[in-house]
Amino acid sequence: MSRICSICGKTRQVGFNISHAHNKTKKVWLPNLQKVRIFSNGATKRAYVCTRCIRSGFVQKPPKRTPTLHKVSDNT
Ligand SMILES: [Zn+2]
Repeated sequence: MSRICSICGKTRQVGFNISHAHNKTKKVWLPNLQKVRIFSNGATKRAYVCTRCIRSGFVQKPPKRTPTLHKVSDNT
């Protein structure tokens, strides 16, 4: 799982933790990715999308699945 948003391409950011004595240690901020079902090009896929894209409505949700009706044959 690559930690990249499949909608906006947001990825990790790198910086420093800086202590009071000004010692610097590397720090990584990861995007808040969620695995969601998205609807694109007439197909339902699962993708990792950041919460900002989900909240902003950039993700089209798949249509609701209807229960399949079983056909009853009358020729018995
Ligand atoms: Zn995003």
